Amino acid sequence: MSNENPAGQASAGLPSTSLKSVTLLLGSPFSGSSLLGQSLNDIQGIAYAGEIDNMHRFAFPLHRESNHYRSRCAICITHDPYDCPIYPLDPQPLGDPESVTIDAYLEVLSRFNEPFVVDGSKNVDWLWYLNARGLLDVLPTRVIVVTRSVWAFAASQFRAGNTNIYQSAEGWRNIYRHALRTVSVLAPPSLLIRHEDFVSNMDKWLSRAAWFVSDRPHNIFEPKPLHCIGGNPSAYAIREEFDKQGHLRVVPDHERPVSMEKLSFFGASEAPRSQPIERWGHLIDRQQAKNILGIPGIMDTMLDLGYDPLGMLEEHAAWLALGRQGT
Ligand SMILES: [Zn+2]
Repeated sequence: MSNENPAGQASAGLPSTSLKSVTLLLGSPFSGSSLLGQSLNDIQGIAYAGEIDNMHRFAFPLHRESNHYRSRCAICITHDPYDCPIYPLDPQPLGDPESVTIDAYLEVLSRFNEPFVVDGSKNVDWLWYLNARGLLDVLPTRVIVVTRSVWAFAASQFRAGNTNIYQSAEGWRNIYRHALRTVSVLAPPSLLIRHEDFVSNMDKWLSRAAWFVSDRPHNIFEPKPLHCIGGNPSAYAIREEFDKQGHLRVVPDHERPVSMEKLSFFGASEAPRSQPIERWGHLIDRQQAKNILGIPGIMDTMLDLGYDPLGMLEEHAAWLALGRQGT
């Protein structure tokens, strides 16, 4: 019905007729949400909005915040000049996170003009904030809990400069206990996707995720430009090309490279992949891996998220032994 261009218009404050539901991703940083989100963005009717729990800071002046990139589109920020049609520089930021209204939230979701929008914030308290203001009463709201193993998370934190892997493991535990309890209490329709499963069988898990998000068992591959706040630009780079200045550029759909993952999803041959353990196996030794499992609550949380932690420890030991043989 709606044929006005919704991009950048902040007027209505009501969902466009096309908006049917929102799906919030919940979980820790480094849980693969950018890869999942941009993959869903390639499905007809689904848009990935990025981490919009920062929407109070949209268009925040770049020099005034340390994590200022979260106030502008992660793709279009590499353009000169910045020209994002979904996250324009106006209106000015609200400043106070408590000032975000449900109408403003729905307006942001409506800008994509797609029926199913994915909010990749991962922030469990953001769902509580929206719930307290009535979101679950005005728009069908779903949740995908996105996870990676505690060791992969600790290794990613290590690479990011947080060298205390035990502290990182405790942070991981707290986030997922909070997420699982929140899903139990608020009871939105929910799906759990382990990143390790997603990358090892994208065909199956992207299909399930798209079905869950859109209520449609058969989804149509229809790549569209990605516009999102925050996230992991290197994940987006899988699907985008770099220009001569090293900036990401949004390429027209017909020019977009089609990755093997996409081809796999639509029945082509499966791409060879690295094992998830290669992301962390060399950064955490056997004793450290066992020590992390010994922290109260870690083993339980791994089991509750569907992992086989003892089997993974054995796999890690075997992987390390294989590496030693090779040298
Ligand atoms: Zn953009």
